[in-house]
Amino acid sequence: MTLPLWFDPTEYLAGGRWRQTPERLPVENPSDGTTIAEIARGTQAEIDEAVAAARTAFEGDWGALSAAERGRLLLRMSRIVEDRADALAVLEAMDVGKPLKQARADVVALARYLEFYGGAADKVMGETIPFQNGYTAYTLREPHGVTAHIVPWNYPMQIIGRSVGAALAMGNATVLKPAEEASLTALAFARIAEEAGLPAGAVNIVPGLGEEAGAALSAHSGINHISFTGSVPVGQLIQEAAAHHVVPVTLELGGKSPQLVFADADLDRALPFLVNAGVQNAGQTCSAASRILVERSRYDEVLERMATAYRRLRVGPAMADLEVGPLISARQKQIVEGYLGLASDLTIAAQGQIAADAPAGGHYVAPTLIGGGHGAHRLAQEEIFGPAQIVIPFEDEADAIRIANGTDYGLVASVWSENGPRTMRLAKRLRAGQVFLNNYGAGGGVELPFGGTGKSGHGREKGFEALYGFSTLKTVAAWHG
Ligand code: NAD
Repeated sequence: MTLPLWFDPTEYLAGGRWRQTPERLPVENPSDGTTIAEIARGTQAEIDEAVAAARTAFEGDWGALSAAERGRLLLRMSRIVEDRADALAVLEAMDVGKPLKQARADVVALARYLEFYGGAADKVMGETIPFQNGYTAYTLREPHGVTAHIVPWNYPMQIIGRSVGAALAMGNATVLKPAEEASLTALAFARIAEEAGLPAGAVNIVPGLGEEAGAALSAHSGINHISFTGSVPVGQLIQEAAAHHVVPVTLELGGKSPQLVFADADLDRALPFLVNAGVQNAGQTCSAASRILVERSRYDEVLERMATAYRRLRVGPAMADLEVGPLISARQKQIVEGYLGLASDLTIAAQGQIAADAPAGGHYVAPTLIGGGHGAHRLAQEEIFGPAQIVIPFEDEADAIRIANGTDYGLVASVWSENGPRTMRLAKRLRAGQVFLNNYGAGGGVELPFGGTGKSGHGREKGFEALYGFSTLKTVAAWHG
């Protein structure tokens, strides 16, 4: 299938001008390993251009718009995303390898982020502060200025929607560096911003390698905020770069998120959430529920029911639209297989099936359910970022909390129990940025603040909270006697 491109993917965008870089990077289709396009390989020079263009826009046409005008432009972008839904979904499926239905869900989420932040743009308010007689004191929420957005390959559209969408709503001018493995829908996003009529320089995009374009952007003295979503080691580099220029940074890093299943859980309701949260996007999800903790008395039953679901999982090319697609790259496949090799002292409870006609060049890994686990095992501690879950028994509530909180991460957790007070108690005691009670993920949750504790990062995106992160607070104290 040919890519449904309505723009030239080899170009980068700075200040409303699309141009080529001297060198390019290949775009691989993870479903069969073929090269399907080329993208620009931006370096310091293109980043300099993009940051300067963003500054010009911030101090010029873009910065001059009212909040309501910005909101209207984002709403227009949302409608264009909906109009282009089919093309965007195919681009994402072919670039990332995710099954078409997941790519379609990502398009819906992108449109919803733009709708949410478009609607919210003129609803961010300051406060008046009771102060000394003779004064009126109040706060203003103002944009940072130029914001940098470095995003990963696993959910490009969703992460750009929540990050760039919120930054634009607050009036920042943005520079986006998409992941080298998946830049096509990011480029489409920049085109859509143009089609919607955003002033030149409000959205700039420079594809390229992390250590070139990404490093140049995060170290740039012209940016006022960095939003980074990606791995812990690169997040640490980003925080160092931000520290150098003393700019705020939002880090959305990895996770080892648990779902806690108590003996009184409604298992019929829980089961699809337990499995899907592990294998969605082939497990390449920061909030993947890669640990399933089950109260001992129902451990065997949960493991067996999950195993039955795993045996039904089919793995194949994105466009075949099965339950699970390929991993993003040969490197990712190697990492995940390395982890699965550590399961020799545990039990492989079940595996999904790779379709017989899946192309040999695709990066397929059979979804793997691992039983007999314990909290200290490396597979229960480290992020696998592939379609694998480890199931661990616990004895009681205290044991469940100890295991759940016993990793370096703290992104998402869920509790399955019909005991309401217990779920509320655990919501407080679990170390995570989001806790779900008798559900997981809440269907993406555009409106729900999201982010981590510990090595999962800091700062919050999504929901209204993101608008505070993408703005700075000014206090005004006026004396009038
Ligand atoms: P990565 O850190 O390798 O890459 C992320 C981005 O950083 C890419 O755009 C990459 O080009 C860029 N980058 C790489 N090196 C850089 C450098 N030296 N300087 C500046 N930028 C650089 O991560 P990945 O492999 O693309 O993504 C997987 C990781 O992302 C996982 O750990 C996953 O949990 C995490 N993730 C987190 C969230 C979240 O919201 N918490 C969402 C998605 C992914």
